[in-house]
Parts: sequence; structure tokens; C-alpha cells
Amino acid sequence: MNSSNTLKINISKVDKSRIDNVDFNNLIFGNVFTDHMFECDHINGEWQNPTIRPYGPLTIDPSAKVFHYGQAVFEGMKAFKDEQGEVWLFRPEENYKRINKSAKRMAMPEFPIELFDEALHTLVRMDSQWVRPGVGNSLYIRPFIIATECNVGASVSSKFKFMIIMSPAQAYYSGSIKVEIAEHYSRSANGGVGAAKAAGNYGAQFYPTELAREKGFQQVIWTDANTHEYLEEAGTMNVFFRVNDTLLTAPISDRILDGVTRKSVIDLAKRQNITVEERRVRVSEIVEASKNGTLKEIFGAGTAATISPINGFSFQDKVYEIDDQEDSYSARFKKELMGIQQNRIEDPFGWRIKVK
Ligand SMILES: *Cc1c(COP(=O)(O)O)cnc(C)c1O
Repeated sequence: MNSSNTLKINISKVDKSRIDNVDFNNLIFGNVFTDHMFECDHINGEWQNPTIRPYGPLTIDPSAKVFHYGQAVFEGMKAFKDEQGEVWLFRPEENYKRINKSAKRMAMPEFPIELFDEALHTLVRMDSQWVRPGVGNSLYIRPFIIATECNVGASVSSKFKFMIIMSPAQAYYSGSIKVEIAEHYSRSANGGVGAAKAAGNYGAQFYPTELAREKGFQQVIWTDANTHEYLEEAGTMNVFFRVNDTLLTAPISDRILDGVTRKSVIDLAKRQNITVEERRVRVSEIVEASKNGTLKEIFGAGTAATISPINGFSFQDKVYEIDDQEDSYSARFKKELMGIQQNRIEDPFGWRIKVK
């Protein structure tokens, strides 16, 4: 362990906030960023010079390895403001640990958890005006690490930059979502990087997702790369299937991202005595359940949209529709998760962390 967890954060503030230029009622996801950002460099084997400064462009040499070999990982988390004006994070330690798991898989140095925590609390507090109260409003937080060594040799970088940027977000109603079940392309493979939030995983999905969009599907549900017989997850969401009153979801593996929303849904469900089966789910089983009327719901779970109900899926050029449910699990979990996140209901799990 180096000494960086005791480093002091250098802070330089904006002269004037940009917040008055922002229309908080018409936010597009991930478009507008708050006044400040956090930055810390890893040089000579140590994280050094942690800094909070005005949000703005970086100057990076074109030979930096991140541009050539995609050595980059990220996280996605949120802060919320309650009606009393207190700001809360949701299970942030999960993200501190996960970025380090991702970093390790990409041969990048881990970022000290204490410094991450301190930087995040300090940054969110400084820009707390940007977190709006009200159902569905949040501050989306994007920590990331990139390889910054100036050298196009195809080998691990010796320099890295860790950053946190933040963007105000509104709940968005996605409308009716239909998904395509992948039969040709794959997101991840055994022994690959699917379990890491590594930048290239997402870039690689854009093309097959565009093809699905052209056919009228908003997302792809990925299947196992070997056989395409088992359902895995969506682009940035884990996926749940409700057959009768049982919830099914793929088990965590080195192909699947261990989502915080996924774990939270499982805990909420178990607390309500809903049976959850974390096991491989066959496409044929879901097709069959759709045909015989036992498939009640499909929904995605991820930080950006919390819970996204899915109204239909395509498989082998057939579309299977899912009727709306009264008192759906997806609506219930969404309400409970958002209630806990925004301090409207009790948090029996200790998930909500007050910003210091
Ligand atoms: C980020 C992500 C998720 C959701 O994880 P959360 O921690 O719930 O936000 C699921 N799948 C993939 C591939 C992801 O990148």
C-alpha cells in the first residue's frame, strides 16, 4: 500500500458556477457536467497530486495508450437529495471495490478506497447545488481510469489518470422497450473482460445494437457466446425474468457484470419471500413461458435507469409480446429502490450513505 490514502486533496474552485445556464427540466442524460471534477495521476508506481478543479478539457498526448489499446475502465453511480436537502449516495463501497476489480483485469493499478471515498464526498458536497430533490432526480457520477503513458508500444501503461465527473440526471420514461435476443454477435466470452466495466465492452456493442435498432428493438439481450442458448444480460443492465411468481436471473460469472442494482433487487425480493433463482436461463425456456402464459415480466436493472420494464423480445425473427402486469415486480422494485435512495422510506439494509 502506498501513502496516497492520506494525501490531501488540492482544491481550486470555479469563479462563477455555470448552474444558472442549466435547464434542469430538460436534461439529456450525460450531456451537462457540474462545476468541478476530481483528477489524480498514477506516476512512478504511486497515485499522486489528487486535485479537484473546474470541469474542463484535458490535454493528453495523442500517443497516450488509452487511445490505441483501450486500457480504460469506468463506474456509474448516483447521488440523491431528499426533501430536507441532505445528499445521499447508494452503496458507494460497491463501486469503490468494483472499479478496482475492473482495473485489475485490465492491468491497471487499484485506486485507494479511502481516497476515492474522500474525493467523492468532497466533490459531491462542493457541487451539491447540482443535485435536485424530487422523485427521479439524481446526480449521475462517472469515475474512470485511463492509461496515459505516451508510447504506442502494445504493452501495459506505466501512467494512469483517475477522474470523477458528474452529470445531473432526470428520470426518463423510456416508453415501450423491445429487445432482440442475440443469436450471432456476442458481448463477452469465458476468460474475457465481460465482468469488468472496461470501455471496449461498450464500444463493441454499438454496431450489433444499431442493427437491432434498425429492426425496431432498443436493446440487445446477450446470450452465451458458445451456444447462444442461455440468456445473460443487456448492454448496461442485468436482466430478470419473472415466470409465474419466481424471478430468474443469470448467475454472476466472468462474462457478466456484477451489478449493484441486480444485487439490490435480489435482496428486496428475498425480503418479500419472492423466490429468486440465480441460474442459467435458457432462451427456449423463456420462449416456452411466453407461449404458455407463465412469462409475466422481463426487466433490466442498472444504475442509469434503475429498473426498465421490457415489453417484448424477438427470437428467431418472431416477436413475443409481454402484457402489462397489475402490481408488477418491476414497478414495485423501482418504487422501493428509489424510495430508499431518496430517503423517502426506511432503509433496512444500510444502503443509503449520507454525504459528509
Ligand atoms: C454497469 C452495468 C450493469 C449494471 O450495474 P449497476 O451496478 O447496477 O449499475 C449491468 N451490466 C453491464 C454490462 C454494466 O456495464
